Amino acid sequence: MLFMPIASRPSGLRRVHTEGEKDENPNMSSKLEVLERRIARIKEKLTSLGDLRPGTLSEQYNVCGTPHCQCKADPPKKHGPYFQLGWSRKRKSTTRFIRKPDVREIKDQLRNYAQMQTLVDQWVEASIEICDIKLQESRQAAKG
Ligand SMILES: [Zn+2]
Repeated sequence: MLFMPIASRPSGLRRVHTEGEKDENPNMSSKLEVLERRIARIKEKLTSLGDLRPGTLSEQYNVCGTPHCQCKADPPKKHGPYFQLGWSRKRKSTTRFIRKPDVREIKDQLRNYAQMQTLVDQWVEASIEICDIKLQESRQAAKG
């Protein structure tokens, strides 16, 4: 049994660009504004995401038990592809066979999930910066 990951999956992960703006102004409150605008855009993108599905789609080709079948020829013409979806939630992993007509929709859902993770990650990054700036500001306010 040959187990082949679908090649199109990693390239299907579109990079989400939100880091267009550079903060030329060293002023912290303007940097805050830039970060807050960035987060606002991330939130907008998150609300427009379609259905989410975690997991990995793989393609497999099988050999059957029938004597003299083409899958045992030389070179073999194996049966397939069969599409299998694997995912885990709450420490429980599951696999399910996917019908070929459903593959496209499943890929969209997987891509949306990956994009959601990218966006959330960018949100967290920007938020950490905001938290640090606010800490610094309150420290300075206490000093002055
Ligand atoms: Zn066969």
